[in-house]
Amino acid sequence: MNYLENLNPQQKEAVEYTEGPLLILAGAGSGKTRVLTCRIAHMIAEKGVAPWNIMAITFTNKAAGEMRERVDQLVGQGADNIWVSTFHSSCCRILRRYIDRIGYDRSFTIYDTDDSKQVMKEVIRALQLDTKVFKERSILAKISAAKNEMIGPEQFEEEAISWSDKRVAKCYYEYQKRLTQNNALDFDDLLVLTVKLFQQEPEVLAYYQERFRYIMIDEYQDTNTVQFHFVRLLASRYRNLCVVGDDDQSIYKFRGANIRNILNFEKEFPGAKVIKLEQNYRSTQNILNAANEVIANNKGRKQKKLWTSNKGGELVHFRQFLNGFEEAEYVAGDIAGKVRAGGRQYSDFAVLYRTNAMSRLFEEKFIALNIPYKIVGGVNFYARKEIKDMLAYLKTVDNGRDDLAVKRIINIPKRGIGNTSIGKIEQYALEENLSFYDALLEIDRVPGVSRAASKIREFTSMIGRYRGIIHSGEFSVRELLEMIIRDTGYVQELEEENTDEAKARIENIDELISKTEDYMKESDEPNLSEFLQQVSLVADIDSVEEGSDYVLLMTLHGAKGLEFDNVYMAGMEENTFPSYMSISADDPEEIEEERRLCYVGITRARKDLTLTAAEMRMVRGEPQFHRASRFVREIPRNLVELERETTDTRNFLKPPATGLDQLMGYGRGDKTSSYSGQGGFGESSGFGSRNRGGSGAEASVSYGGTSGYRSGSSAYGS
Ligand code: ATP
Ligand code: MG
Repeated sequence: MNYLENLNPQQKEAVEYTEGPLLILAGAGSGKTRVLTCRIAHMIAEKGVAPWNIMAITFTNKAAGEMRERVDQLVGQGADNIWVSTFHSSCCRILRRYIDRIGYDRSFTIYDTDDSKQVMKEVIRALQLDTKVFKERSILAKISAAKNEMIGPEQFEEEAISWSDKRVAKCYYEYQKRLTQNNALDFDDLLVLTVKLFQQEPEVLAYYQERFRYIMIDEYQDTNTVQFHFVRLLASRYRNLCVVGDDDQSIYKFRGANIRNILNFEKEFPGAKVIKLEQNYRSTQNILNAANEVIANNKGRKQKKLWTSNKGGELVHFRQFLNGFEEAEYVAGDIAGKVRAGGRQYSDFAVLYRTNAMSRLFEEKFIALNIPYKIVGGVNFYARKEIKDMLAYLKTVDNGRDDLAVKRIINIPKRGIGNTSIGKIEQYALEENLSFYDALLEIDRVPGVSRAASKIREFTSMIGRYRGIIHSGEFSVRELLEMIIRDTGYVQELEEENTDEAKARIENIDELISKTEDYMKESDEPNLSEFLQQVSLVADIDSVEEGSDYVLLMTLHGAKGLEFDNVYMAGMEENTFPSYMSISADDPEEIEEERRLCYVGITRARKDLTLTAAEMRMVRGEPQFHRASRFVREIPRNLVELERETTDTRNFLKPPATGLDQLMGYGRGDKTSSYSGQGGFGESSGFGSRNRGGSGAEASVSYGGTSGYRSGSSAYGS
């Protein structure tokens, strides 16, 4: 069978060890996912296991789709009887069949995040809680965390100590009551209720235990407590449970992932066999060494060895730029150049970053260079809700003729202008042949909007005030944007929510502020209309992707399990990665989680890994200066190829002992050019000569000319 032929002895052992609990603990790219797929094929083809007796769980739908495809290829017929899916979709299927046993209707609806928010809003109102203090999303986040730990409302209430948690407990009760009344389940309920079903209905559990005699779980290191219980119950009869994972790639603690699930596997399932895979088939030696060196700085991990027969390979590239602008320009240019040179297509490249907000600069550069791209697991920067809201404000101030923009924000944040009033104004505008905004200005003549009228007057006078400000020329686009944010309380509302999602939205808005700042620096006569026009050139391109060949952009979290020939990890500087939050948390655990994320990122690369950093990054329009990430400095210098990027670099870099840590070290004095042999460091022509195919001088013109910062292009070439 061809699927056994292409496996190494440990992989083969894992594939053939089908009976009893099995833990495959192995580093990145060692073929864990591949082993799972082959195992399924082997069980069906060789062991006579019926396809419907097999369940395989993956982390994302995308991964499930890929695994199913591969199994289909290996097995051929009957493969569709195998359950290959995520936890959520498996649970959903089970509940559709049996949830009536625990008092729900089988035709239950599943509430998405927006639906849940709506319910929570009603709950908060019904309980007469202060909406300034109690935000739907933050309460929902607490409830979700509780559900992941299988903590119901009763237990939550018992354990609530703080005044606010006691209120949250009340919300939890009320929220569950309403969901039940509506015969609805939220995402977390899918798991919680399946576990409950299994616990309360032994018959149902027995049925599924019989059915799923063979259970396999990928990315086990990121399972949470309720998922663990689901697995434990299902597997407790036949104990044919195979989990694969890598404790070094556990990166979802903030969502309740429990690393103990993997570390305690042998305790939970006595007699479990443990197989370690040590050969990495994905990356070159240099990339792998870099990954191993970085992760070695984490304490309390299971020791793992990883080797590869892909000797050598390109050194890891490290490029440090003056700012994020030039960083993005370099990455876009590098990709374009390499694709043009032939032999590589766009889909061989991926750009990974720490936060979603960082996509903005890359998107702009990609569009400018006509590089097709796609954002994985997220939306394009200018299509994000908060960005569209802010731009709608700016458009309304700029000219009131964009009806869509005005309608978008007339009641955002909520100011008591309902849909009925809006409908009446629309009607009036139509009859009088006015734009929507002009109709607002005549609100006193619009019939039937009495109650909303005063709110509308407040709105138009606010917009009027902004217009005056902008026309006076005394305030910049950036200041206008900041005024809008402050006056409307938009960001404040997000801050009060204090959820991961709200934080990401704030980061996006901060990034937009940086964009206005960039724009002002670039433009000869900055003004609002021109700014909006410039943005719309980028924003209106819904998606540049044509066909299937595009560069993938995603967060490091989103890249888990994937692989690419060429990977760029951007924003490799302190306070970006590791994040400011993790550094200021003063908790070594937080940094270790970031370091695992870095390990995940590095190990996505097959052939070529480029780490980039910006010395200066705009944060909320303010320049912040950061040194290179500690993770870069943890890579030994002999694995890294550097080119001089900035005037500072020479002073910045210090002679090494072992790691780049010393190389860029802070503290050691003497300066040497011994590094120049490694790739144009000392006196070489510098930036761009290698990848851009031009001379250093050319590169300095093309970069220096566009940057606008430190406009003397002495930074490059000399
Ligand atoms: P991650 O930890 O990132 O999820 P993984 O351990 O699941 O990685 P896979 O994605 O299964 O690793 O495999 C990594 C790459 O190595 C894939 O391209 C896979 O096809 C290839 N590979 C795995 N095992 C072998 C093998 N025995 N021979 C050749 N290629 C292999
Ligand atoms: Mg995998």
